[in-house]
Amino acid sequence: MPIRNRYHHQNVEGIRVGKVDMGINTTFIVYRIDDILIDCGPPNQWQFVQEYLSDKSIRQVFITHHHEDHSGNAANIGKMFNLLPYAPALSQKKIAEGYYVPPVQRLVWGGPIPADTQTMPEELSLSDGSRVIPVHTPGHAKDLTCLFLPEKGWFFSGDLYISRSIKYFRSDENLQQLIESIRKVVALDFEVIFCPHRGIVENGKAAMTDKLNHLEALVEQAQDLQKQGVSSKKIVKRLLGKEGMLSYLSGFNISKINLIEQALKVML
Ligand SMILES: [Zn+2]
Repeated sequence: MPIRNRYHHQNVEGIRVGKVDMGINTTFIVYRIDDILIDCGPPNQWQFVQEYLSDKSIRQVFITHHHEDHSGNAANIGKMFNLLPYAPALSQKKIAEGYYVPPVQRLVWGGPIPADTQTMPEELSLSDGSRVIPVHTPGHAKDLTCLFLPEKGWFFSGDLYISRSIKYFRSDENLQQLIESIRKVVALDFEVIFCPHRGIVENGKAAMTDKLNHLEALVEQAQDLQKQGVSSKKIVKRLLGKEGMLSYLSGFNISKINLIEQALKVML
């Protein structure tokens, strides 16, 4: 599919691409701030990302984490503009060597394409000299590193935000770390979130705070029910409803029970 949507905020442009359109979780927005790209888009969308970039001049790419929708086109973009993308140190080996991608994700995004990267330094900058500060925010993935632009009041959230409330969790996600990362982020001074799935979120700080509140409430409710002797499966039904199609399609790699089982272990 060609570009599905375009987004603008001051000098930031975003393009939404994706082979399968089943909502925000199966499509992806590549953001560009003048000559900087934030994440690379899924590998099976290279044709459209390439077309978009064909009349642009790109100086650098900042990758937030290794997942294929974020890093998939790193090698191609590197070749196209003769650059070495920046990636968090924790992501570099996975991006260079590839990794297992479950069948559902492979269908949606394509498989990883190995790429060489250079380690993201502690501070980066835009061409106007304003700062881009990487903020390590594990939870969704160990390597997830968001980008905070203090002079602009912008926050590029990788997969930290996505939604104010969540019902599903991947088996490799860590809820304790996610909550701690969001607490760290809401202490920063920003207004707008640029989420590669949700889009541009004005009032981003309030939205991120809402997400934290929702997660903390879920943990408290789940733990209260457990104290009353309710089983994990029944807690899922009461708090999140029945498992959906995604749980079965992914073989419960992405499911509601993952979220509840972790919620029962979190120390708030
Ligand atoms: Zn991710």
